[in-house]
Amino acid sequence: KTEYSLYLPDEQAMMALGARLAASRPEGGRVVHLTGDLGAGKTTLTRGWLRALGHSGAVKSPTYTLVESYRLAGRDVHHFDLYRLADPEELDYLGLDDYFDGQALCLVEWPERGEGVLKTPDLAIRLTVAGEGREARIEALSEAGRVWLEALER
Ligand code: ADP
Ligand code: MG
Repeated sequence: KTEYSLYLPDEQAMMALGARLAASRPEGGRVVHLTGDLGAGKTTLTRGWLRALGHSGAVKSPTYTLVESYRLAGRDVHHFDLYRLADPEELDYLGLDDYFDGQALCLVEWPERGEGVLKTPDLAIRLTVAGEGREARIEALSEAGRVWLEALER
C-alpha cells in the first residue's frame, strides 16, 4: 500500500501526526513534501514534528528566508516554505544540494513552487480542510516512503 488517509479533528491531532511521522521515520526517510492551501495546517504539522524531536522554541514560518534550519536529536532538520518563490530557478541560489544530499531531514511547504528543481520526496502529504478539521492524504513515493507508511499505520 502506498497511500494512507486520516482525519484530524483539531490542531492537537495535526501536531500528533507530526510526532507520529517523526517516530515512524525509517533510516532512509529524509524528504517530505507538505501541500495544501494557506491555513491547511502544514506549519502546524511541522511544529508537532519539531517538538517531538525536542525543539521547545517557536517555529517560525520561513516565508521570506525560504528555509529555517534546526539541529535536533543529532540531526539537521530543514524546514522550507517556498510560498514566496516566484520561479523554481531561484532555488539555485540557495544551494539545494547542501540541504538535500546529506543525512538531513527536509520538510517542504509549497513544494509545487519548486517543481522541476526539487526531487521526488519519500512522502507527499496533502492537507485539505474538511469540516472543522483537516483531511491528510499521505503518499509514499520511494522505497523508504513505503517502509515509513507501513510503520506509520501500525
Ligand atoms: P499552513 O502552514 O498550511 O498555512 P497552519 O499550520 O499555519 O497552515 O495552520 C493554520 C490554522 O489551522 C492554525 O490556526 C491551526 O491551528 C489550524 N489547524 C491546523 N490543523 C488543524 C486541524 N486538524 N483542525 C483544525 N484546525 C487546524
Ligand atoms: Mg505554513
